[in-house]
Amino acid sequence: MSFLSGKIALVTGSTSGIGLAIAKALAQQGVHVMMNGFGEKEAALAEVKAHGVDVDYHGADMSKPKEIEDLILTVEKRFGALDILVNNAGIQHVDKIEDFPVEKWEAVIAINLSSAFYASHYALPAMKKRNWGRIINIASVHGLVGSAEKSAYVAAKHGIIGLTKVTALENARTGITCNAICPGWVLTPLVQKQVDARAEREHISNEAAKIALVSEKQPSGEFVKPEQLGALAVFLCGPDASEVRGAAWNMDGGWVAQ
Ligand code: NAD
Repeated sequence: MSFLSGKIALVTGSTSGIGLAIAKALAQQGVHVMMNGFGEKEAALAEVKAHGVDVDYHGADMSKPKEIEDLILTVEKRFGALDILVNNAGIQHVDKIEDFPVEKWEAVIAINLSSAFYASHYALPAMKKRNWGRIINIASVHGLVGSAEKSAYVAAKHGIIGLTKVTALENARTGITCNAICPGWVLTPLVQKQVDARAEREHISNEAAKIALVSEKQPSGEFVKPEQLGALAVFLCGPDASEVRGAAWNMDGGWVAQ
């Protein structure tokens, strides 16, 4: 039986992409999961439930602190605890600073950064009482390096790595760890939009746009797979990672090694 069997996880933004892959990877270890996120959710819930664990859904908008508080309280009430918090919900907007719509700046900062603070703020007291917890913040290579036209995203992702370090330090003498995962390009709906925009802008096929996008930044020339990030999240939740604290762990085909 897995070490994680019977634990309770909340994965924000788990109706799609990386969040869904992490929810599935945890469920495969016997972890019960509260899912969250927008859009079509039934198929995502079914994929996680297929691993034989208890699964529920809460539709909190992660840009709204009150809804985040309700989400955390609901997990604790519904499942009796919250052991693993994966702050994954995120959005992207691409524009030069002078053209960046201010409401997009506010939304990216709220969803990609502030939501992780609020979720941790509400989840930590009960984790501390049980003296065990795992907080995994899904940052990005953009938490380590910049790219033009991604001011809000890069600021939020650098910020979430700072938040990760402080969360890890404040809990260093407890059984609660906090780490960030920094993916390079992963072909999810968030990135597909950027592929589509590039194909249109450069009058190239979708396939050519995918190759151009990845090769520009990632020496491996390959996308990172959501399942690989799921496996890293499982490792960070396990006993062998109990002294991994405050790390910003990139899985990026060599992007930030350059
Ligand atoms: P995605 O678009 O497939 O999934 C994003 C998820 O967040 C969805 O479930 C969506 O419904 C949810 N979400 C968006 N706004 C929300 C809100 N206000 N409240 C609640 N849920 C909300 O994207 P993804 O690529 O899987 O991204 C997941 C995370 O990984 C993000 O934090 C993103 O920044 C990060 N990331 C992605 C990549 C990549 O290449 N795809 C690379 C590095 C980091």
